[in-house]
Amino acid sequence: MALIVQKYGGSSVADAESIKRVAKRIVDTRRAGHDVVVAVSAMGDTTDELLDLANEVAPIPAPRELDMLLSSGERISMALLAMAIHSMGFEARSFTGSQAGMITDSQHGAARIVDVTPIRLREALDEGAIVIVAGFQGFNRDTRDITTLGRGGSDTTAVALAAALDADVCEIYSDVDGIFTADPRVIPKAQKLDHIGSEEMLELAANGAKVLYIRAVEYARRHGVLIHARSTFSSSEGTYVLGEGMKNPREAEGAAAMEEPIVAGVATDFGQAKITVAGVPDVPGKAAEIFKIVAKSGANVDMIVQNVSATGRTDISFTVPKADSAGALKALAGEQTEVGFQNLVHDDQIGKLSVVGAGMRTHSGVSAVLFEALSAGGINIEMISTSEIRISVVLRDTDLAEAARTVHTAYGLDGDAEATVHAGTGR
Ligand code: ASP
Ligand code: MG
Repeated sequence: MALIVQKYGGSSVADAESIKRVAKRIVDTRRAGHDVVVAVSAMGDTTDELLDLANEVAPIPAPRELDMLLSSGERISMALLAMAIHSMGFEARSFTGSQAGMITDSQHGAARIVDVTPIRLREALDEGAIVIVAGFQGFNRDTRDITTLGRGGSDTTAVALAAALDADVCEIYSDVDGIFTADPRVIPKAQKLDHIGSEEMLELAANGAKVLYIRAVEYARRHGVLIHARSTFSSSEGTYVLGEGMKNPREAEGAAAMEEPIVAGVATDFGQAKITVAGVPDVPGKAAEIFKIVAKSGANVDMIVQNVSATGRTDISFTVPKADSAGALKALAGEQTEVGFQNLVHDDQIGKLSVVGAGMRTHSGVSAVLFEALSAGGINIEMISTSEIRISVVLRDTDLAEAARTVHTAYGLDGDAEATVHAGTGR
């Protein structure tokens, strides 16, 4: 008998029929003799709809009240799911984040989990009940207020529950079959991976892959939680995300050890914009000034490139999420005379392509394959950055899909058949 944590995303519980299907899946797991704890997201687009409503009544909704509102979405789905399980003759109990002991800091809308005290969950499990927990929400001890963990936070809820309860596995269900070598919507020949290292998964998630939320993967990595990403809409096995030193459960079951590929996957990101600060005086301290201003605007800087200067002035380009770019531009424009740069250029027609693989550490020539493939495709590179296990390039957004397909082929990642893509959101 195992303790299994399952997380169901909004698309898996979008309506009554889907809730019943999920209930059946949970009951089947219970029938197989396992203890089951479920973290559930709000139904379908509920969170977006609640956000829209909030914005209709107030231009800037009070953060405390917004969390009160948004957390209600998961209360609806958790109670309905428990009822559906009851009607199948099984005992189930739903709990809000605070009842489940999900203790967070006090930052509304982006709270971090600081402790999990699942006393009531343990009791319910000991009494033989299936436990359903509202995802995405917690409770702060000082303010005694309800908090939410940020969009997509239910993944983190599930992983945190798995860690606190010492679960055998944390299954994350969505409308995709697992982790793919690329987004199958962009690259139809993408293949589902049997497993992936959590370090590689983090790089993919940070660079545009949307199947798993980065904070959930980080949490799992830190606490040694085994994640199994799989689909609600099929019974096939998904992809295991393995932390350091973790064994692939399939190999433990006797499957032959697989040779690790050098490149695990290709990620595409259409969500970045490029800002160029042109004509910056080439003297010490200017980059510090610029990035302090950008950081203060709340923008999250990704890639940075500085040109060589011949004239005593230089250009500094960097990328930020599109949503952050207006704020960063405004902040920089306000300090133009202090910093002494000549002008600002904004470009949101860019796309970012990343190739990720732990094998890059030990193999040479990995980046040459990327550059050759892009060159053969006649695709121009605008920026390049690397980490130990990733190479990223910024391109025209209109080139990104074609570039990703070319590069995917060049690394030998293409599958024989086209990947199945279920209609849906990928959550
Ligand atoms: N319902 C929340 C959202 O849509 C949390 C989640 O789905 O994980 O962001
Ligand atoms: Mg959702």
